[in-house]
Amino acid sequence: MRAVEGLESKVRSYSRSFPAVFSRARGSIILTENGRQMIDFFSGAGALNYGHNNHRIKAAITEYLASDAMIHGLDMATPARIEFLETFNSVILEGRGLQYRYQFTGPTGANAIEAALKLARKVTGRQNIISFTQGYHGLSLGAIAATGNRFYRKVSGVSLPGATFMPYDGYLGPGVDTADYVRKLLMDDGSGVDSPAAILVETVQGEGGINVASKQWLQSIQAIAKEFGAVFIVDDIQMGCGRTSEFFSFEFAALSPDVVVLSKSLSGYGLPLSMLLIKEELDAWEPGEHTGTFRGNNLALVSATAAINMYWRCTRFSEEIRRMGELLLRRLEAIASEHGNDFAVRGRGMALGFDCQMTEVAEATTRRAFEKGLIVERCGPDDQVVKFLPALTIDFETLNRGLEIFEESLIEAVTEVRGKGC
Ligand SMILES: *Cc1c(COP(=O)(O)O)cnc(C)c1O
Repeated sequence: MRAVEGLESKVRSYSRSFPAVFSRARGSIILTENGRQMIDFFSGAGALNYGHNNHRIKAAITEYLASDAMIHGLDMATPARIEFLETFNSVILEGRGLQYRYQFTGPTGANAIEAALKLARKVTGRQNIISFTQGYHGLSLGAIAATGNRFYRKVSGVSLPGATFMPYDGYLGPGVDTADYVRKLLMDDGSGVDSPAAILVETVQGEGGINVASKQWLQSIQAIAKEFGAVFIVDDIQMGCGRTSEFFSFEFAALSPDVVVLSKSLSGYGLPLSMLLIKEELDAWEPGEHTGTFRGNNLALVSATAAINMYWRCTRFSEEIRRMGELLLRRLEAIASEHGNDFAVRGRGMALGFDCQMTEVAEATTRRAFEKGLIVERCGPDDQVVKFLPALTIDFETLNRGLEIFEESLIEAVTEVRGKGC
């Protein structure tokens, strides 16, 4: 492909799955350099919940840019920062009965996870982090240590200590409550599992294959964290900001995490911004103990504030996400039952996974979908799950067109793979 090949390191990945030059975008449509229209069901891995270049959010940042207001100020106070904090407090936290301190970290999700783990270890004086099979928390060393995927772990080049993996909800089949297993191991002084500083969990595992934890399981895990003195951390980087229909993905289970990690769609515009929400009694940091140059970039805070004001002041947006999510789920279930008995559909809200069981089928499906004008990505330990993360603002017609492309591509993929004698 023009320019990137040979210039950019071989480490590039998405430009391989989606070989085109993308020049402009609006909402759920991306234009390639050659003027091709692509439907986007990937949304920047969940960083574009409000669509590309959402014009209502764009107005706020163009005005801000034009006024020569502070863009970079390290973590110094600015009107943009104060407005974000006040807006998030009043619109998001207060109505939900939540109270947190805010910590802006470096702009990646991984850096926010590092901060959360550091804080949990500092507060408890313990080292062990309990994380879960198929969990994904980012690719810096502390975060990889808590990430299941062998592909990412083995390239780190050092040992990755400090985490104990427990089976996620459903990992051992529908008959086994894995929370009971976690409790049993923590109660047993002979289990070999050190007392945890934290339990780190996603309510729906995004990279891990759209694995959905139940309300009861999440409540048990929260109770176990409390019982054993561990900090309960929800990684809401991908599933937060409305992806599962409510602002936080844990609201449906009425959880009250000690620490919540947000990033990806937090800025509302695809600008980098990451943050921890910390219960006040756990805010044990000394000034500057976790620092970074780009903590709470003002432009990203302005777009984040605009997104919250625009979409979260009433419950209508949540209801729309739920309605569209149900449509999407029903349609995918119909496609699954029509075209084979091996397919499974999972998810919550507008985070859905179509499990092809076979990597080859999933690969051929997303490749053919791209050729037909749909950007859709895969996840799961073997990349066997087609992952649907359309913008939460997508209109019904575009959603439908994308689904038609997906169905055609799946049919062709099944034929292609059968033809190879698999
Ligand atoms: C993307 C992601 C991360 C890592 O965020 P980066 O910005 O890529 O470092 C961590 N946890 C979850 C659940 C994610 O989806």
